[in-house]
Amino acid sequence: MKFVFVAGGVMSGIGKGIATASIGRILKSKGFKVTAIKIDPYINVDAGTMNPIEHGEVFVTEDGVECDQDVGNYERFLDENIYTDNYMTTGRVYQSVITKERNLEYHGKCVEVVPDIPNEVIATIKRAGKKVKADFILIEIGGTVGEYQNMLFLEAARMLKISHPKDVLFILVSYMPVPEIIGEMKTKPTQYAVRTLNSAGIQPDMILARSILALDEPRKKKLSQFCNVAPEDIISAPDVASIYQVPINFEKEHMGNRILKKFGLKPRPSNLADWEALVKIITNSPKPVNIGIVGKYFESGKFTLTDSYISVLEAVKHASFANDRKPNITWISAEDFEKNESSLENLNQFDGVIVPGGFGNRGVEGKIKAIEYCRKNNIPFFGLCLGMQLAVIEFARHVCDLKDATSAEFNKKAKHLVIDVMEDQKALLKEKKYGATMRLGSYDCQLAPDTISKKAYGAIDITERHRHRYELNNAYREVLQKQGMIMAGLNKEKDLVEIIEIKNHPFFVATQFHPEFKSRPLHPHPLFLAFIKAATKK
Ligand code: GLN
Repeated sequence: MKFVFVAGGVMSGIGKGIATASIGRILKSKGFKVTAIKIDPYINVDAGTMNPIEHGEVFVTEDGVECDQDVGNYERFLDENIYTDNYMTTGRVYQSVITKERNLEYHGKCVEVVPDIPNEVIATIKRAGKKVKADFILIEIGGTVGEYQNMLFLEAARMLKISHPKDVLFILVSYMPVPEIIGEMKTKPTQYAVRTLNSAGIQPDMILARSILALDEPRKKKLSQFCNVAPEDIISAPDVASIYQVPINFEKEHMGNRILKKFGLKPRPSNLADWEALVKIITNSPKPVNIGIVGKYFESGKFTLTDSYISVLEAVKHASFANDRKPNITWISAEDFEKNESSLENLNQFDGVIVPGGFGNRGVEGKIKAIEYCRKNNIPFFGLCLGMQLAVIEFARHVCDLKDATSAEFNKKAKHLVIDVMEDQKALLKEKKYGATMRLGSYDCQLAPDTISKKAYGAIDITERHRHRYELNNAYREVLQKQGMIMAGLNKEKDLVEIIEIKNHPFFVATQFHPEFKSRPLHPHPLFLAFIKAATKK
């Protein structure tokens, strides 16, 4: 097993996750078994308790871990499932060390921050690699070198290199600013980042030079000289129009074989033909398909951030490319519809509308208005998790005449709780056990005949990933069905409604699960494919 650590220099947000995922894709295309790990240095045991505006999307794995969105990038680029041990936070590592200590697993010895914490990190990395029999295991250390928070993880990397000198490689993904006023790419911040890494006992083997521009020869030479890295191991990584171009760009600089050489392995050709075909569709600028996403987690001061919905965004892209379309996505704030009802008419400009997942009261009434508008005006509509719950509430209120229909999440005292808390969630909520206690991960779902969903999947039995506490209240199934709602997918074991559709509409499908987590660039999700197809027909 070979270990490739990826750390960041100068600043965060420069695409370390995509870089890690791209390196993985390249090595996989050379015929190796690859997996990737994300390390986040914060105390939170997982990402599930964090506000998405601050932290981005909470991604959910097959085995139900609520983790950082980068794990989603790994799954999408590698086209492989990622499991529990591939995600670590400081809190998670400490939690397992403390549990072991309480269980006397350290046999009376004094348990110390160093080496016991780094040792736990190393053991977890090895376990993750063994689980999938990985040839290469990529480990992305979140944050930037020099931060106090990620020191123990760098220490783990350094210790692993001592015990496995031939099997560990360090890549620094660093940023080269091009200040407008100077008009030149500057390498000094990266030189400092390398020094900082050196002071942690680590010498990078390769540098990925992120910048708005490609690296030129003089800069490469300077970096090589001052950072102790051969010029061939400094990879230029300029901004690109699409993240899918990244693996191809890295391979233009022979990054894959440079990595193999460092490990003393023979060079191998990479096969990115399917990836190149995808990029070709994107760069051929096909006709647009206009999709509106009605949400609330994207306003941050003067900026609109879309990271909270990254898997939804990616799934729309995958399905659009497969339909030979370019997605033109508009982010719509649900609260706008509450302030100004006439703005609902703007929804007519979209070929399809998505209402994604969410929590709490804010924006809910605006989303319900948007769903009503799509239902009445035959606009293809796709609801995801909360989006499904709100579609049920809308239908109950306006079609079944249950005026105060709502979810127990918004008003426990309402008469018609068409969405109610799941039975096994009640005790958890009472005891304030919020962390990692939702219905999480993959569950079975059986599709009903003659539904859009069954046709889309081309199967009856499917599995999808979940993250919720509330569910369609079975007491209302009959009234809803009588008025034309179809229970298109059911979990038989717990008798839960997982998909609803409505009759006589070009596309009105909503899922209690999150299909977006399973969409991959080379394997778009069937429901997203069907939704985009319906949208292209509008
Ligand atoms: N808030 C809803 C629930 O907990 C929906 C969750 C979601 O959209 N992920 O059931």
